[in-house]
Amino acid sequence: MAREKSEAVILKTFNWAESSRTVVMLSREFGKMPLIDKGGRSITSKRGRLIPFSRLEIGFHYSEKTERGYINDVDLLEQFSFEREGTLGRLAYGSAACELLYLLLPEEESHTLLYDYLISYLRHIDTAEKHYLPAIFLAFFLRLLSHLGYHPSLAYCIDCGKETNHRTKIEKPVLFSPERGGVVCPACQREGEYYIGLSAESYRVLSRLQTASLDEASTVPIGYQEASLLIDTLTKFLSYQSGLVSGLKSLEFLEKLRNSHLTLEKDSR
Ligand SMILES: [Zn+2]
Repeated sequence: MAREKSEAVILKTFNWAESSRTVVMLSREFGKMPLIDKGGRSITSKRGRLIPFSRLEIGFHYSEKTERGYINDVDLLEQFSFEREGTLGRLAYGSAACELLYLLLPEEESHTLLYDYLISYLRHIDTAEKHYLPAIFLAFFLRLLSHLGYHPSLAYCIDCGKETNHRTKIEKPVLFSPERGGVVCPACQREGEYYIGLSAESYRVLSRLQTASLDEASTVPIGYQEASLLIDTLTKFLSYQSGLVSGLKSLEFLEKLRNSHLTLEKDSR
């Protein structure tokens, strides 16, 4: 029964008995791994609590008999409490990042850089002004996609490779094909094919965020509507390219929030 220790963040939890659950964690050393938490939810448990959106130090052991890992100790290293203005949005973007990692990462493959990037992301989501949150999430999403080998082609036409120069003035919307995996220049567009039309401004923002650090993304304000279009573009791209995700559950309620916000605006006119 080998005992191990690793720093880790909770990605997803499945409760399966009154006091027991399976916790899927992203650990710094061992990558994504499901661990069984027996009795940790019980109020009499003296063990440290498993807190979402935190850097935890997890002590665990692996049982040869059941071929599963079990949590022994939990120590809290750093908690991201999302208490600043816009808590709901922070929770949604924090959850969406964890959901993406849960869906996309293979198990037990070490991704130390990605782990460190997630911690930096959660720190930014915890502390940035709320109108920068969508850009921070988009930068994270784009980086994760590239890391996993799904790189949407934004600077060049996916078909002929012609440069879509975002420094010069673009007047017409740029067409993005989630199925082909990038922008498609006018010469390569096909009748009847599905495209997402990005305004020149949205296209520039997305291109900029593809190479932006989280610090840089924390200076790019994006409105509700534009954020929703850009997130939808990347989600559809991922869905076509990986066949894994239909939509991010964590972000559905942001959409509802946006719709109720729009209704309120209409009502007050
Ligand atoms: Zn082309």
